[in-house]
Amino acid sequence: MVIEDYEVAIVGAGHAGCEAALACARLGLKTIVFTVSVNSIAMMPCNPNIGGSSKGHLVREIDALGGEMGKNIDKTFIQSKMLNSSKGPAVHSLRAQADKEDYSREMRKVLENQDNLTIKQAEVTELIINDGVVGGVKVNTGIEYLTKAVVLCTGVYLKARCLCGEAITYTGPNGLQSANYLSESLKKAGIVLQRFKTGTPARIDKRSIDFSKMEPQYGDRRVVPFSFSTDPESVQKEQVPCFLTYTNEETHNIIKSNLDRSPIYAGVIEGTGPRYCPSIEDKVVKFSDKPRHQVFLEPEGLNTNEWYVDGMSSSLPEDVQVKMYRSVPGLENAHIVRNAYAIEYDCIKAKQLKPSLEFKKINGLFSGGQFNGSSGYEEAAAQGLVAGINAAMYVLNREPMIIDRSEGYIGVLIDDLVTKDSFEPYRMMTSRAEYRLLLRQDNADIRLRHKGFEVGLISKEQIDYLNYKEEMINSEIERLKSIKVGASKKTSEFLISVGSTPLSTGASLEELIRRPELSYEKISQIDPDRPVLNDDIIEQINIEIKYRGYIDREERQVSQFKKLENRLIPDGIDFKSIHGIRIEAQQKLTDFKPVSVGQAARIQGISPADIQVLLIYLKTRAQSMNGNKEEDDE
Ligand SMILES: Cc1cc2nc3c(=O)[nH]c(=O)nc-3n(C[C@H](O)[C@H](O)[C@H](O)COP(=O)(O)OP(=O)(O)OC[C@H]3O[C@@H](n4cnc5c(N)ncnc54)[C@H](O)[C@@H]3O)c2cc1C
Repeated sequence: MVIEDYEVAIVGAGHAGCEAALACARLGLKTIVFTVSVNSIAMMPCNPNIGGSSKGHLVREIDALGGEMGKNIDKTFIQSKMLNSSKGPAVHSLRAQADKEDYSREMRKVLENQDNLTIKQAEVTELIINDGVVGGVKVNTGIEYLTKAVVLCTGVYLKARCLCGEAITYTGPNGLQSANYLSESLKKAGIVLQRFKTGTPARIDKRSIDFSKMEPQYGDRRVVPFSFSTDPESVQKEQVPCFLTYTNEETHNIIKSNLDRSPIYAGVIEGTGPRYCPSIEDKVVKFSDKPRHQVFLEPEGLNTNEWYVDGMSSSLPEDVQVKMYRSVPGLENAHIVRNAYAIEYDCIKAKQLKPSLEFKKINGLFSGGQFNGSSGYEEAAAQGLVAGINAAMYVLNREPMIIDRSEGYIGVLIDDLVTKDSFEPYRMMTSRAEYRLLLRQDNADIRLRHKGFEVGLISKEQIDYLNYKEEMINSEIERLKSIKVGASKKTSEFLISVGSTPLSTGASLEELIRRPELSYEKISQIDPDRPVLNDDIIEQINIEIKYRGYIDREERQVSQFKKLENRLIPDGIDFKSIHGIRIEAQQKLTDFKPVSVGQAARIQGISPADIQVLLIYLKTRAQSMNGNKEEDDE
């Protein structure tokens, strides 16, 4: 039987699949989303939190573009904290503990009530491709769904196997069914797969934890929402604490004396794991000089006794896990509800993708999430949104939406994935972004809302507010520059009263705000005629004034970056015919088919000299083509 009711098929309803499905449906396309279990929509199989360093930036950017994750965590968080708030705004990053059940339930509700969207519990076993163009998918019941585009967001399910010591089960996370047939179909289509792995810690019964031996970790008094659309007052609620404890020498000895039974160290695990999310075994072996490692106990939700042991993911056998966890202060009587385990799965080498997340060799086929070789809910959701938007743009015959490294962490994420070889699951970090001061989490709306509006996911009302916000920021800064205050006794007394120092000569209000100890809010007393502004506008005014010099410098760097980034490389260039480019580089360029000189310059093994030759070649080529055209015109 063949079903032709849908324009786009999304394979997977995890964090990537949910964003992709909602984007396509909200852009008016008849969309069907497949999952092996409807109960696992937006499931959080690992850490019970959204956000954190650089990941909070991704969530804000997803929201700015019109995605759902930010709104969903604002509805379902149980603790929220602005990380690095004592440092500069570039590294401020929101992190919220989620009630996992609520998070999944709320996202499912959004999908179930979305126009143009159909949810189907079925395993996709085959991709339908005709002459290099995607034609739909086939499911385990034999039904074929013919569509114009397909987005693969299969996460950790393809040929998944879970390892807990010697115990190996061929399932997806939490015992869910794995997807064992699609990999072969992808290989037949010429898609290159690789094997990655990741791990998760045990879940412990709250009644068996002695919290008195741990340090409570509280959320922020005033909660800042993730979504620019969330009313800040609506997220001010009671929160639950997390708790901090540590491993110790006994823990480390238990692990060291059982490494031979660890699937990682016994070589049973084939897949490569994330260096930046190491298992406790890896930490004990690689950082053997450290006497202890931090362990955070985090609630999985308000309606469960399960607590997540952050910092102790493992795949050691259960009997070892019991001893290992019980050696930690506060866990002496720990009852393990769910064992820690590692999961291996098939995913792709993302260099097979264009920056639009479309496969270079198969038109209309897009992919996002862990399947692209990343790790993390936020990384997955960001890619799912971009892949979904671009699948829609493909069907609507519109230009794809590309975010480059100077516009967002999403741009850094995707560019790193599609331009660099991936040897382990890719996790976002602030250190990966060149323009950190420009790519702050607080200005994601200013950076990306317009793109969301252009594709059609952001409403007129939202863009009107953004335009008003930008206008108010600029006009208010001009106003502050224009108002001078003298070095009067009254001003000096005021400045001393707010912890600053008297003026020796007159200064503008803008100059005062530049002082580290002062801010727009703090000088309100000597600025009675100021307009009433929202907190988010005031936040931008403070940052724009205080960091202007640094922002200017980064903006200059970005204009350099854009020069090469906007130097596009036409399709069909035969890099092997370009004399002066080294053979290795010719090979790499032929393999990668970079879309721009900027991307070519970031491919490992391509030297600045190769780029110079390429630039000259492109220039000569353009001139000769213009020359031929003029001759033709004559
Ligand atoms: C054990 C474990 C440990 C983890 N540890 C970490 C960690 O330490 N740090 C970290 O950042 N992240 C970790 N993660 C990863 C995190 O869970 C993922 O990054 C995130 O869930 C990826 O989202 P996704 O949408 O790409 O895929 P997933 O959330 O895996 O969702 C995939 C979806 O695809 C569906 N699906 C797959 N194949 C098919 C098919 N053929 N037909 C139909 N439906 C299909 C599934 O039903 C599911 O809905 C871990 C995950 C697991 C399971």
